Amino acid sequence: MKVTKAELAHVAVKREQYPTSRLPEIALSGRSNVGKSSFINKMINRKALARTSQRPGKTQTLNFYEINEMIYFVDVPGYGFAKAPKPEREAWGRMIEGYLQDREQLKAVVQLVDVRHAPSADDKAMYSWLKHFDIPVIIVATKSDKIPKGKWQKHLSVISKDLQKVESDPLLLFSSETAQGKEQVWNTILHYVSK
Ligand code: GDP
Repeated sequence: MKVTKAELAHVAVKREQYPTSRLPEIALSGRSNVGKSSFINKMINRKALARTSQRPGKTQTLNFYEINEMIYFVDVPGYGFAKAPKPEREAWGRMIEGYLQDREQLKAVVQLVDVRHAPSADDKAMYSWLKHFDIPVIIVATKSDKIPKGKWQKHLSVISKDLQKVESDPLLLFSSETAQGKEQVWNTILHYVSK
């Protein structure tokens, strides 16, 4: 996929602010620090269009990146605010659930997990919530450059088993350092977009 144009087109905290153009959307979800901003920047060939590390306490927004006037990447604020105050967690939940449920042009969610670690309780809760609503998930295991190649398969098996991954959901390795997996993830996204 050759990205010729990418821009942050919409920033939303409520439904009225979502785009109305009906382009297909791919949402990106993962706990803070998993490498989501690096993933977006790598996929669209930008150094820093997506901001890195949204910290708890900052305003949580849904960021719609329009790519090639063809598709939106929807950056969902990082979860894993176990230490955040309850009202903030609840506001996050309402906004994300409100978006993910009942969004016709949402084609799939890319859920990012760190390939080095077994999925967290938040990772598991997020995945099972998405499955409950029958939303297709592309699981992307980030930071593959941080473990030796010989260990990839074992780590992927743990992720697959712990998440109780359904067979139809792809699980792909990715590195924003080496660009490993970039084309494969793009091809997978385009497959879901054209479905
Ligand atoms: P976010 O909070 O999910 O948006 O995560 P960031 O994209 O800000 O990444 C968090 C940290 O992990 C940063 O220090 C990144 O440089 C680092 N990082 C992200 N992706 C990779 C990767 O694929 N390989 C390596 N080695 N580091 C990464």
